[in-house]
Amino acid sequence: MLVTCTLLKSIKFILEASRVHMENCKPAQHASSCRRQVIFKIEPNMNLTPTAIIAIVGISVFAAISCNNTNQNASQPTAQNSNVPADIFKTLIDSATKARNNAYAPYSKFLVGSAVLAGSGAIYTGCNVENASFGLTNCAERTAIFKAISAGEKRIKAVAVVTDVPELTAPCGACRQVIYEFGRDVDVIMANLKGKQKIEKISKLLPDAFGPGSF
Ligand SMILES: [Zn+2]
Repeated sequence: MLVTCTLLKSIKFILEASRVHMENCKPAQHASSCRRQVIFKIEPNMNLTPTAIIAIVGISVFAAISCNNTNQNASQPTAQNSNVPADIFKTLIDSATKARNNAYAPYSKFLVGSAVLAGSGAIYTGCNVENASFGLTNCAERTAIFKAISAGEKRIKAVAVVTDVPELTAPCGACRQVIYEFGRDVDVIMANLKGKQKIEKISKLLPDAFGPGSF
């Protein structure tokens, strides 16, 4: 009974420690501090049975692997076959963040900024523009893309989307379709104001897409 009790208590303690840490740590610091944090958190449990220790070690290893996997996506957001050099990657996020300040979102209050890296190398920005007739609302990504195309661009290389929510915001279905129209290989960069970043190919976000090559 004592063994079961201690075991359950220990597991609960570790899971809580991991969860709190996962929520609080910054992506860039995640891998370096995560394993240490988990180990540190279990130190107060001094009277552990052998069974409990084995369980804790197992859970800690699992937590550490999970943390490292999370960090891999966060600290190395640039895909290996990305179209976006590191300096442009930052410029796109900064441009989208700035454009977000112009968002017209009186109804949802959900401000979105976007920046497009066009085929020429120029960057075009956009924000979401809502309307009292909700269906007429235009997303930030499409605003930026339409600006680029209307300026004479034919292709786009990357689209950045910046919001201020913990979970990164991916383009909606309509925007994915519009992005795909101008390049099957477009990099979609998602970021928030806390520094969390991720990059995916549009072909992954919109698999088996209907596009210009479908006719
Ligand atoms: Zn959209």
